[in-house]
Amino acid sequence: MSHKLKVGELKALYLTEEQIWRTFTIVLTARSKKSATYKFGLLKAMVENLYQVDEQGQVTYDQLAYSFTKIYWNLVIHHQLEQGTRGSAVVNRLLDIQSQGNIPRDVTFDKLDPTIQLRAVKQVKSVMKTNVFGALYGDTHGAFYAFDHKTEQFQFHKAVLTFMRKYQRLMVDLINYHMAKMIEQLNEVPNVHYLLDKVESIAKRSTLKPFENVLLQYFEQSCFYCGRSLAKGDVQTHVDHFIPWSFVQSDHLWNLVLTCRRCNTSKNDKIPVRDYLDDVVERNESLLTYPELVVHDRDLLHYKEEKMVHLYEYSIQNGYEDIWLPS
Ligand SMILES: [Zn+2]
Repeated sequence: MSHKLKVGELKALYLTEEQIWRTFTIVLTARSKKSATYKFGLLKAMVENLYQVDEQGQVTYDQLAYSFTKIYWNLVIHHQLEQGTRGSAVVNRLLDIQSQGNIPRDVTFDKLDPTIQLRAVKQVKSVMKTNVFGALYGDTHGAFYAFDHKTEQFQFHKAVLTFMRKYQRLMVDLINYHMAKMIEQLNEVPNVHYLLDKVESIAKRSTLKPFENVLLQYFEQSCFYCGRSLAKGDVQTHVDHFIPWSFVQSDHLWNLVLTCRRCNTSKNDKIPVRDYLDDVVERNESLLTYPELVVHDRDLLHYKEEKMVHLYEYSIQNGYEDIWLPS
């Protein structure tokens, strides 16, 4: 387990922006496993310290732990958002400090007595050593930073430091968004979660039925993936976004295929194996031979084979790495 590591070296000397984006995307989204919000906390602490580094790109554990403790104090004590993180070591230590000192729960970290701040930072730092530095290091495949528990030094990869500075605003928005989303889910704050869900699916259609009818009318009535025969009005007939909706965020005929329920359910939010890319490109060529279909989707006028291929490749670059095959 990577979180048990006491020292982690940088695994790559050279990193492209594309590689960094890709790793970030995977870490931020649900594609990386998170039992707690720690990874977001460390990313936020890193952002806060982008300009505190020395010439080698190093910051001390104390600097990072200070930022991290501030974030968690305000989250857990001040905002009382401890659910889901309850029982986590950082939360327990902070709750102990708060109750031992009889500190009112609305006190923010900045208002704490410096000796209490120091005690909190020290305790949180020890938790970070066992649960945080190694975990994010593992998630980023050792490409973003090096760390050493003995010297208590954390070293940014040069390219990552440059990247985070260059896209800092975007980084902050992304980290905050995903962290908030996780906290909201854990705390069952119905209104905000509801709102985020709404924002995310604002462009989503409520039904793909019209597309289903068009596809059934013009194409072979069988599952695009497994070939099972399909029929109109059958509940087994589904419409699938070849490139997942969560990535394309739109419903276009050229990205929709008829499938059986089994394939659609098991494919879910995944990318199909590349062989199907050729099939869908071919299917779309015949789609274009029916100019009347433009009434169902004006975007057909702008469809090009390259678009499909690029989308396929970009989706993988954006973390859709789980490639699906019909069973
Ligand atoms: Zn099927």
